[in-house]
This record gives sequence, structure tokens and C-alpha cells, in this order.
Amino acid sequence: MADELLACADAFYPALEQDLGISVYSKPEMIRTIRSAREMNDYSVRSGQAEYQGILGETLIELDPKKYGEMEGAYEIGQVRQLDIKTLCLSIHQYLKDNHAIHELQFNHHALCIDEAMVSFGNIRTANIIFCEGALVQENPYFSHLPFIIAKGELIHIQAEELDQDFLLNSHKVLMPLGQDKYWYGGTFSWDKDKAPITEHGRAELELELNETIKTPYKVLQHLGADRPTIKDRRPVMGAHQKHKNMYIFNGMGTKATSLIPFFGQEFIEHLLMSKPIMKEVDVMRFYSSTI
Ligand SMILES: Cc1cc2nc3c(=O)[nH]c(=O)nc-3n(C[C@H](O)[C@H](O)[C@H](O)COP(=O)(O)OP(=O)(O)OC[C@H]3O[C@@H](n4cnc5c(N)ncnc54)[C@H](O)[C@@H]3O)c2cc1C
Repeated sequence: MADELLACADAFYPALEQDLGISVYSKPEMIRTIRSAREMNDYSVRSGQAEYQGILGETLIELDPKKYGEMEGAYEIGQVRQLDIKTLCLSIHQYLKDNHAIHELQFNHHALCIDEAMVSFGNIRTANIIFCEGALVQENPYFSHLPFIIAKGELIHIQAEELDQDFLLNSHKVLMPLGQDKYWYGGTFSWDKDKAPITEHGRAELELELNETIKTPYKVLQHLGADRPTIKDRRPVMGAHQKHKNMYIFNGMGTKATSLIPFFGQEFIEHLLMSKPIMKEVDVMRFYSSTI
């Protein structure tokens, strides 16, 4: 659904930017390195295929070997979008605060009272409740049985004064400029549920691959980690609880929340307000047994 998702995101984020008076959505240049004969072969095959037209640049680019080392070549990747999520979240948060539409508290599932007509939690009373808890869904007694497979991810923030890079570089992982000689590099993937958010192994992997990616000096400023809410069939999951019809889930955005949410957020709203059926591929019903 890439074309549909991208078209929806291209309409949604600029409208949100306008409503909130911020600038967070852009179309940056992304360059991907070719570091082996095998990668060169893959590129040659794919760049001739119709489905990669407009996605894989047709001409090879030369990157400065003093900065990036020797390589077979590089090419541009098209259709890239960048969203400054931190600024967007802070701005939405402020908007909700200004409109007295947010309570900031730790939600305790065991303090929830629910019947067919009403959901209440402390002094909040409402007709419906929607859980959008990301990977913390595992602590939600109503939905923790869903087959979530949490994908841990680690990244580093670095400072590299001599790099002077104004494009995103895809080489092992993604190196993204943040301004003022700072860059984001990541992320790793680990399916080990019990691992801490940041690990020595993750840090070593990031530095090893970054050392192959850039040849200018850098220093690591921060090492961060988080859980991606991924579900077994790697699709979003949304819809009502099997027993409590006024209790919903909106989750399973995995590695791609930014591109999935504009489209599926709209689908979900139309389901809630206009009873539009949820696409079966993302409906939580796919995990319910038909006997209950
Ligand atoms: C290293 C890394 C790189 C990534 N790169 C990309 C990328 O390039 N593009 C992309 O689209 N996605 C990317 N992702 C994935 C993306 O971060 C997730 O898909 C996204 O955050 C999921 O959004 P969400 O709102 O469902 O969950 P979250 O972002 O986890 O938000 C859930 C929120 O609910 C709160 N919450 C949960 N339970 C409670 C409770 N009981 N009480 C109060 N608050 C609660 C949590 O604190 C959290 O703030 C990346 C993830 C990682 C780790």
C-alpha cells in the first residue's frame, strides 16, 4: 500500500503543520552506498525494474572517499520523507493542554470501571476508551494476549564536525543530520524481550557499522533505545475488544508508525464515527477465536 500511504501522509502532515503553525515534514535527499559487488549486482538488477522507477536513482553518485571511504558507488533513493516527531509531539501536546483535552497521568488498567454504557477511570467518565500504548500494550490485561513480538531498537547521537553532510545516508543503517554537526545513527533490531533498552552489544554494532560508514572523527553524545510495537503478521492492529465493545485498540505500528498512521488513523476514525468496516488485514478480529 506504499503509494496510498504516502499520498495520505503527503496530505495529512502538511495540513497538521498548518493547523499547528509548525514545520516538521520534508522531502530530504537520501543516498545509499554500494559497498560490495553483490550490492552492485542487486542495484543493477533492481534499477532496471519498473516497480523501482522513481525509487532507485538511475545514475551512480560519487561520495568523497575521505569522508566515506572507498566504495563501488552510491545512488539516490527517491520518495523519502522526514518527520520531526519530537517537535510534532511537543506541539500536539501543547495544543491538547491549551484546549484542556489532556490528563497527564500513569494509567492503571486495574482501576478502570467498564460497562456497556460507560467507561470510567478516576473522575474521567466517557463512552469509549482507545488504548494506544505502543509496546507497553504488554502490560494491558485486556490486549496483552495479542501476538506482539517487541522489536527493540538502539541508536546513537553523534557529533562529527568535519562531516558537513546535508543528506540522509543509508549505509548499513541511516545517518541523519540534526543540524549543528550533530547526527542520528540507527537503529538496531533485537527480538530479545528481556534485554535492557540499551546494551553494550547494540552500542558495539552501531559503532562498528558507523566506522565503516564515515571516516571523519566523531564523538558519541547519547546512546538511546526503545521498543517497537510489532505484531506477528507485521500489520497494524485496531478495533474493539472481543467482550467490551466500547474498548478499542490502535497499535501494531511496528517500524513504520509515521507512514501508517495518517491512513489507518483516518480508517479508524471512520470506523468509530461512521461504522465503516475495518480492513480485515488490520482488524483485531483476525486474532479472535470464532468460538467466543
Ligand atoms: C530505533 C528506532 C527507530 C525507529 N525508526 C522509525 C522510522 O524511521 N519511522 C517510523 O515510522 N517509525 C520508526 N520507529 C518506530 C516508531 O517509533 C513506532 O512505530 C511508534 O513509536 C509507535 O507509536 P505508538 O504511538 O503506537 O506507540 P509509542 O510511540 O510507544 O507511544 C505510546 C505512548 O503511550 C504511553 N503509555 C503506554 N502505557 C501507558 C500507561 N499505562 N499510562 C500512561 N501512558 C502510557 C507511552 O509512555 C508512550 O508515550 C522506530 C523505532 C525505534 C525504536
